[in-house]
Amino acid sequence: MDKLPHYPMVIGKALVTTGSEDLIEPATGQPFATVALGSKADVEQAVSVAKTAQSSWAALSYGERSAAMMLLADALEAKSEELAHLESRNAGKPTKLSLGGDIPFAIDNLRYFAAAVRRQEGSAAGEYVGGYTSMTRREPIGVVGAITPWNYPFMMAIWKLGPALAAGNAVVIKPAPNTPITTIELAKTALDCGFPAGLINVVTGGAEVGEAICTHPDIRMISFTGSTRTGKRIAELACPMVKRVTLELGGKAPFVVFADADIEAAARGAIPAAYMNSGQDCTAATRIYVQDGVFDQFLARFTELSRSIRVGDPFDEATDIGPLSSEAHRLKVHGMVEEARQQGVKVVTGGILPEGAGFYYPPTVLVDAPQAASCVQAEIFGPVVVVNRFADEAEAVKLANDTPYGLAGSVWTRNVQCAMRMVAAMDCGTVWVNDHLPIASEQPHGGFKQSGFGKDMSYYALEEYTVVKHVMLELTGEAKKAWHSVVFDG
Ligand code: NAD
Repeated sequence: MDKLPHYPMVIGKALVTTGSEDLIEPATGQPFATVALGSKADVEQAVSVAKTAQSSWAALSYGERSAAMMLLADALEAKSEELAHLESRNAGKPTKLSLGGDIPFAIDNLRYFAAAVRRQEGSAAGEYVGGYTSMTRREPIGVVGAITPWNYPFMMAIWKLGPALAAGNAVVIKPAPNTPITTIELAKTALDCGFPAGLINVVTGGAEVGEAICTHPDIRMISFTGSTRTGKRIAELACPMVKRVTLELGGKAPFVVFADADIEAAARGAIPAAYMNSGQDCTAATRIYVQDGVFDQFLARFTELSRSIRVGDPFDEATDIGPLSSEAHRLKVHGMVEEARQQGVKVVTGGILPEGAGFYYPPTVLVDAPQAASCVQAEIFGPVVVVNRFADEAEAVKLANDTPYGLAGSVWTRNVQCAMRMVAAMDCGTVWVNDHLPIASEQPHGGFKQSGFGKDMSYYALEEYTVVKHVMLELTGEAKKAWHSVVFDG
């Protein structure tokens, strides 16, 4: 057998391999590459080089930093096909999603932050106290630890690196253990573009490396995207050193269809909303609530469309959804469907573990599940959607908000007043009206409740990666000032 390609970590300008482990291709279930397995010592080395790189990077003007990031965006764009191929191989996503969605959107995000840093916002400098000028400075935090999940490996890396670098920080990033390749390629491309060695360091591995990042005293911020369970652990680890934390966690997005909605548009919109990336999307529509009166019509059309989804080889252009990311994850997804079945929930389509190679799972529609059932309350993170009913707007709000999560949701109606009442009432970080999923680099993405806090994308993200300093200049030059008398009249 040919030797598998190997992906070392990037620490400073060195390509480092401590341990090594196999990467499994989700479409075949076979090893297709090996990746370095990092250690606590690798994290220490990465932080040490990151500190040096950060001070020189932060000393550049905004324009200089921006130009370097634009250059990196161009270089990544030039290798989009290669990156998309690697992402599809490693994460199992169809190339029409990796090449047509994830990679170009991530590059747009990088360009947005390269531009946004040149037009920063804040309070105006001025005389807020007589005899003094106040101003604020927005300063980098230092070395940021970034920890990313496996569902959108490249995009999540850029969502963190974009604002962190623009703000003048250096980054030690740990991709998910099973999907590290495009993050490694990103760091190598940055070195090729002349980025300072140590500005972007990739340390691969699992929880042990993640915990070493969270507890390193010289990492001042942890930017995390992943499950709520791990997010809680990260917050715990960051707490003793009072590290800044942003947590982009799980979701269980409601998709609320009122009787006056365009039912064909809603049923069609629910397909990408529920199944994009095989449902491995934190904002995926996983709980569809349909108003009595149009329930049967919606369910029939949505089920018909679900059955027409083409599940298959990520490299086949006809494929709509590829495999799940790992066998362990597929078994978890199927286990949750089985649990729902045992609880008496009806499986209208799907729910069968396919035979053959690869971690495939069919679009699965569950109907009329009790609101308290685990398939309604917990994140399944596969192509599995629950379709339930509601009577009126008050019940729709109650059901939509009734999970621990609050990442995203959508409302489908032709009534603008109803839409705006729902927008205000839904307890989540993004609400779409008559669509579900689209995002923009200029607009914030982040959760409420146990979906976390902090924002990715937009100017709000740039703020997350900076600290604000108040500077106050005394203007008179006089030794004795009026305010001193609150202590001392001498
Ligand atoms: P996960 O929480 O298992 O892992 C995420 C990352 O954390 C991985 O890199 C993992 O190695 C690392 N990690 C695990 N244990 C750790 C520990 N103790 N200390 C430090 N790091 C640790 O999540 P996942 O299964 O890789 O990703 C899927 C999850 O991510 C879903 O819950 C999904 O909703 C969420 N997600 C959220 C968003 C968002 O923007 N809110 C976006 C994408 C994915």
